[in-house]
Amino acid sequence: MTRCDIAVVGAGPAGLFAAFYAGMRGLSVGLVDALPEPGGQMSALYPEKLIRDVAGFPAIKGRELVQALVDQIRPFSPEMLLDHRATELHEAPGRRFRIGFADGSALDAGAVVITGGIGTFTPRKLPCGEEFLGRGLRYFVHDPAELSGSRVLVVGGGDSALDWAETMQHIADVTLVHRRDVFRAHRHTVDQVLTGPAKVHTNTVVERLHGDTRVTGAVLRNVANGETAEVECDHVVAALGFVANPGPLLQWDLAVRDRKIVVDPAMRTSRPGVFAAGDICTYDGRVPLIAVGFGEAATAVNHAAVWLDPAASTFPGHSTDGPALGAGPVRVPA
Ligand SMILES: Cc1cc2nc3c(=O)[nH]c(=O)nc-3n(C[C@H](O)[C@H](O)[C@H](O)COP(=O)(O)OP(=O)(O)OC[C@H]3O[C@@H](n4cnc5c(N)ncnc54)[C@H](O)[C@@H]3O)c2cc1C
Repeated sequence: MTRCDIAVVGAGPAGLFAAFYAGMRGLSVGLVDALPEPGGQMSALYPEKLIRDVAGFPAIKGRELVQALVDQIRPFSPEMLLDHRATELHEAPGRRFRIGFADGSALDAGAVVITGGIGTFTPRKLPCGEEFLGRGLRYFVHDPAELSGSRVLVVGGGDSALDWAETMQHIADVTLVHRRDVFRAHRHTVDQVLTGPAKVHTNTVVERLHGDTRVTGAVLRNVANGETAEVECDHVVAALGFVANPGPLLQWDLAVRDRKIVVDPAMRTSRPGVFAAGDICTYDGRVPLIAVGFGEAATAVNHAAVWLDPAASTFPGHSTDGPALGAGPVRVPA
């Protein structure tokens, strides 16, 4: 079982910044996420969108902000437990906690900061071709450059599908398929795709994927006239959206209101030693923004540090004070 001072459950922006702050305080961190990559909603829902309201960045893509947050925690080498869905939280001997994962493994921590956002995301499945998952079919695009020069079939009509089609149409041979004749995406992006090099099929569904070891093509069917067409492709990006489910996090014996975890001004939950920050938490007047989650993460970790060592100061000192990082490492009672 992995052992750490602070377990941060959820590696979205709030969780990544919480992990950084724990590192600043000299605390070891286990950073957990159900997804195979960090970044939360930014990675899963809008990696290519420009975010314009994060302090210090006039405009930054979701993917770039995730990378910057990951770079910021790198010096502290947190234990990254990706692809780990936290399902249980139990008290453990010595005023500690044990977080259990869906695969049966566990993490032992002195304090817990829950940053689970709107929950875990499950991609809406393409109704056909699931057997090609990982062999040409994908629900995430980690880096559009990976698909450069190939034939890409993008399926969907929302922001993610249109963002991917727009980004990749300049580096790949893109075909966009959407089952309706109107798109649910940002007007500007739709216009760029409709006037760009991508081939667009509306009122069209993917009837079948085919290939041998990997996908090599798809049969498309026009739902208005029933006609079918063949397209060749090397990759299929199914961007049909995600279902978010806060699931087990709300069943951890914590006070919950409107499917959010209630916290006090120090980001304490109703369970001593367990804190929450970011979109998973609630208090009167909370605004669900990345900038707000960053502040909450810092508050949560600084109070968790005092929970771990009651002699420590809540104020960590200023990061400009140098490598000693203000209050210095927290003594964690054995
Ligand atoms: C299209 C779109 C555009 C947006 N644009 C902006 C914007 O311009 N500016 C802005 O400030 N905000 C924007 N937001 C909102 C912003 O993305 C959220 O406020 C922010 O992501 C919340 O961060 P978080 O870290 O609290 O949670 P999330 O980003 O939701 O991350 C939570 C993480 O916890 C993980 N998790 C959940 N449950 C478990 C579990 N049981 N076990 C393990 N892991 C778990 C999830 O997998 C996820 O990775 C936008 C949102 C969307 C959808």
